[in-house]
Amino acid sequence: MNRQRQRVRKAMILVTFFAFPAVLHYLSPVSVIEASSRGIVNGSLVLFLLMFTASLFLGRAYCGWVCPGAGCQESIFAAREKPVTRGYYVKWLLWVPWIGTIIAMAVRAGGYGKVDFFYQTGLSMADIHSLISYLVVLFLLIALPAFAVGKRSFCHHLCWMAPFMIIGRGIRNRLRWSALQLRSRNELCTQCGTCSKQCPMSLPVHDMVNQGIMEHAECILCGACVDACSRGAIIYEWGRCSSNKKITTCSDSISLDSHVGEGDGNGIAWTTKSRLRSDFQPHSLQSLINTTDGNIKNLKRAEKQQCVNGCNAN
Ligand code: SF4
Ligand code: SF4
Repeated sequence: MNRQRQRVRKAMILVTFFAFPAVLHYLSPVSVIEASSRGIVNGSLVLFLLMFTASLFLGRAYCGWVCPGAGCQESIFAAREKPVTRGYYVKWLLWVPWIGTIIAMAVRAGGYGKVDFFYQTGLSMADIHSLISYLVVLFLLIALPAFAVGKRSFCHHLCWMAPFMIIGRGIRNRLRWSALQLRSRNELCTQCGTCSKQCPMSLPVHDMVNQGIMEHAECILCGACVDACSRGAIIYEWGRCSSNKKITTCSDSISLDSHVGEGDGNGIAWTTKSRLRSDFQPHSLQSLINTTDGNIKNLKRAEKQQCVNGCNAN
């Protein structure tokens, strides 16, 4: 259990939360529309593009470690800790028209002709209008949903920045390059459920561990599950999507080839099972046993399918 790392994470999101009035305009979903209508690339557009770029390698770590809205919401956990498990699609219903409006404005302006990072920026408390918009965002969009709907409801349902990072991570998974991710070692799991309880995004983490699929569009890579698991069954890892692990390890076909055929009529021999145990999740192996019938071609096909399904599960 690593409490220190979570203390550091919580301190970071509290600091950014206190800096929120200073940075709100740089994250504003409104000023980017106005700037685009004048053909200006403003600070918020630059930051949204940076979030997207970072997510190609860091997933939604911004949401877990940096976002000013995170500090506010996680502070509310002390008073209200209702899990949120549905309605993730709502943010897309908001995001698609919003991004469409930005594009339409930019097209109408004849494209972007100027970069002004500080366009319509300043302290959110400098004048009455800025103060009102800050308080509306803080209380109506962030704090109220956290009380009324549940933990990090803003992140699940309303955030206009999250889709950039979900798309970025989806691209990374498609193209299968290395990035920061979680990996499970389910042979160590005791099913205590602590990881799920600690997850600020209310994800069914112990189910994910059992299935060996740690990819989830709502995972913010906060590491709360990593640090809560006393068994070390979840780790951070720099590598390809955890389900891709199966391709990498199972492409070690020497191991597979040499053992397929030694089976007991159910597909794969015990020796194969034990050799694969450290690399394969049991559900994956069981699936292979059920689908291969001792045929190495089918075995490889099944592994690849397993992997594609896993990587694209979210
Ligand atoms: S992964 Fe760790 S914390 Fe989660 S259920 Fe298993 S043993 Fe418990
Ligand atoms: S699954 Fe783990 S890393 Fe992802 S949001 Fe939940 S606690 Fe954080």
